[in-house]
Formats: sequence, structure tokens, C-alpha cells
Amino acid sequence: MKYQNAVLVCFSGGQDSTTCLFWALKHFSQVEAVCFTYGQKHSLEIEVARKIAEDASVPFYLLDVSLIGQLAPSSLTDSSIEIDKEKPAGNYPNTFVPGRNMVFLTFAAIMARSKNIFHLVTGVSEADYSGYPDCRDTFIRSLNVTLNLAMDEQFVLHTPLMNRDKSEVWELSDQLGVFDLVRTQTLTCYNGVIAGGCGECPACKLRRDGLDTYLKRKNNQ
Ligand code: ZN
Repeated sequence: MKYQNAVLVCFSGGQDSTTCLFWALKHFSQVEAVCFTYGQKHSLEIEVARKIAEDASVPFYLLDVSLIGQLAPSSLTDSSIEIDKEKPAGNYPNTFVPGRNMVFLTFAAIMARSKNIFHLVTGVSEADYSGYPDCRDTFIRSLNVTLNLAMDEQFVLHTPLMNRDKSEVWELSDQLGVFDLVRTQTLTCYNGVIAGGCGECPACKLRRDGLDTYLKRKNNQ
């Protein structure tokens, strides 16, 4: 099904949002991408995102929302804080940036509206290991209503990865014909190492475990 509409993808150049970008290219006739800079340690991800978008002929915009990094330092933005290797009991890991997805989607919606675009895509997933509150479906639905009320519009927030674990995200990228691109050109690693990453941080482990699981499943078919 093609929606015959324009869409704005929240895009970071990581595995998830890159898969979402190509999902959008399959389902929408016009795709644009917005990337956010919020003081993250690894600005390489912005260049990675820009290149993937350019190669796919997708217009790419960069928005500076570094205020959220200043208001609530996390291990992704403050080099003096070491990244949690495990999720602390009863708490979110220090990679949690409070309000990040709310800020991203709100700015994306404001930008989209100015372009007469009312579909937005975000790569959040409830199956993600950290269980960040702003990755939950209930939050996305709530924000969708709020954005509609705030701007008196009918936005549609799409979350193609919401119920997929990492192995199923790999599977989707394969179905979309971009498995190799995602594997070799995206940046998910918290230590800023492209593709397979540092192999040590939680994001690398999650990505690799998902890949192993997917390849095993595929090879058994
Ligand atoms: Zn890593």
C-alpha cells in the first residue's frame, strides 16, 4: 500500500531510523528526513545520517535542540559520565535523555506542518532493551492527540518498529532490500564506531544479538 502522501522521518543514521527511512520510501511518495543535534558526544552520527539520506535522494534537515542536553545531562551528552553497561535496578540507564522523543517529535511536527506534511515516522520500539518511557506506544498515541490539539491538524505518527525486537528490525531491513546498507553504513554504537561498532556497549550488544538471532532464523528456513 502506498499512502500517496508526504512523510517526515525522524532520522539519526542508526539501524532503527535507517530501516524506518527505507520503510517510508516504500510506503510514501515523498520522503524527507530530519536529524537532531542535542549535544551528543558522537557528532559523527550526523554525518552518517546525512550521507545515507543523500545517497537515497532524501532531503535532509538538521535541527539543533542542544538545550535538552544542557538541561538534563546524560551519558550520551556528557563526556564525564560513563555509559551504563547494564540497566540499573529500578532505574533507567544513564543513556536516558528525558523528554527526548517528545522534543524531537514536537519539533518534527512543527517543521512538517510548515511543509504541509502530516505524516511522521519514528523508529521507537517497545521491545527496546531499556524500556525508555518515551518509546512506548501509549506515549506516542498520547503525543499524537496532543500535537493534533496543539496545532488543530490531523498528524499521523507512524511507528513501524513498535512491536519488533532487534532481530525483527534486521528482518525488515532485509525485506526492504537494505540489509547490507544497514549493516555497513549505520551507526548505533554509543562509542561512535560505525557498522559493527565497539562491540562492548549496550547498543552494540543489542544490535549484534539481534543480528545473530535473525541470521540463525533465516538460515534455518
Ligand atoms: Zn558500541
